[in-house]
Amino acid sequence: MSGLSFAVVGAGIGGLTAALALARQGHAVMLIERRTGFSEVGAGLQLSPNASCILIDLGLGHALQRVVGEPERVVVRAIGSGKTIGEVAQGSFMRERFGAPYWVVHRADLQTLLLDAVRSQPGIRLVMGRKVETIETGPQGAELTLTTDNGLRETFRADAVIGADGVWSKVRQAAGMRALPSFRGSVAWRATLDHRQVPAALAGNETGLWLGSKGHVVHYPIANGRLLNIVAIERRKHPVEGWSAPGEAKALLSHYASATPLLKDLLGRVDNWLLWSLFDLPARVMAKDRIALLGDAAHPVLPFLAQGAALAIEDAATLAAVMPQSADEIPQAFSLYESRRLERARRVQAEARTNGRIYHAGPLVSFGRNRVMQRLGPQGMTERYSWLYDFKIA
Ligand SMILES: Cc1cc2nc3c(=O)[nH]c(=O)nc-3n(C[C@H](O)[C@H](O)[C@H](O)COP(=O)(O)OP(=O)(O)OC[C@H]3O[C@@H](n4cnc5c(N)ncnc54)[C@H](O)[C@@H]3O)c2cc1C
Repeated sequence: MSGLSFAVVGAGIGGLTAALALARQGHAVMLIERRTGFSEVGAGLQLSPNASCILIDLGLGHALQRVVGEPERVVVRAIGSGKTIGEVAQGSFMRERFGAPYWVVHRADLQTLLLDAVRSQPGIRLVMGRKVETIETGPQGAELTLTTDNGLRETFRADAVIGADGVWSKVRQAAGMRALPSFRGSVAWRATLDHRQVPAALAGNETGLWLGSKGHVVHYPIANGRLLNIVAIERRKHPVEGWSAPGEAKALLSHYASATPLLKDLLGRVDNWLLWSLFDLPARVMAKDRIALLGDAAHPVLPFLAQGAALAIEDAATLAAVMPQSADEIPQAFSLYESRRLERARRVQAEARTNGRIYHAGPLVSFGRNRVMQRLGPQGMTERYSWLYDFKIA
């Protein structure tokens, strides 16, 4: 098959998956990444069934199986009292109900695995240390200008461009969307803890979710149980400078001063906190002419539904599925892609924001929230998201 040629900008989880999915259909991909290496900061990622089924379809299931975990449940507790509020069924219930597992994984493991798959595809050329500066599109295709850190410039032509360049996407601007993401009043403290240091009460094969009016905390085992991934959300008026700024455990503990001793014990054992300010931007444009956007470039989303990477993976698979045989049909294919993705992305963004409000609710609303959780029970809590997890590429 004589395929089309694509420039995929950004080799994050979305860009790597898109390159792989397109190359497997016989298209030629130039995958352009501005970073010179792939050192992922230690942190975890939840891969719900809507994402895991796609990675399995791409042939990555066996490799993933060696590095993922599959928690049996989410245990939801109150930050102040430590009491269990409810549970969400995962493990075998998820797998049987949605036909694919709910996995947790170290981001570096997922990235390494995707990179290995990309490197073994002859149709993909991965170029590192090149930043996309400008994009021009016309009826014949697209032209990109790339620069290196030492000022070298080069141009590259392709039939179309896929912007997978993250929250601060340059390609999004080239697609005509000028609005920038907004800070949403929360900062994520992220860290990993050696499993030997995890308090025994929190060391099971489960995800912990702690809710309180000043923030919430999520933790789950990654790296075959060798590490506990911890994310503590702190509500704040202003974002922290830069990405992955180091955080002082003392400051986090004082924010969570009224937390139950078990949670304070856990948070106090960590000495490698990195801070990450949370932004989002309601999705409006996912395609224009010969440019398509995916993942955070298209729809930066708060992590309160654990769906940012999952959406990027869905986008990548959907893009590959709508791709035509002829370059002339790319603009129509891209608008079909947008019509299949936009509404779902917006819904996920809105649900993630709502989750933030529910997780951080004051006494009145949290009373009602807790009652609902108890009434629904573990499987009912999972079923609330059947629209999300039960995903098939149209
Ligand atoms: C605290 C936290 C927890 C999270 N937990 C989960 C979770 O459990 N499950 C989940 O599904 N999601 C989760 N997410 C969200 C998820 O991490 C992101 O949504 C996802 O990684 C986005 O992937 P991406 O490929 O779209 O973008 P990115 O991973 O940001 O990749 C973009 C890439 O583009 C490159 N780039 C940028 N500009 C250029 C340029 N001009 N030229 C060339 N390259 C460029 C960047 O260097 C980068 O490599 C979480 C996020 C946070 C903050």
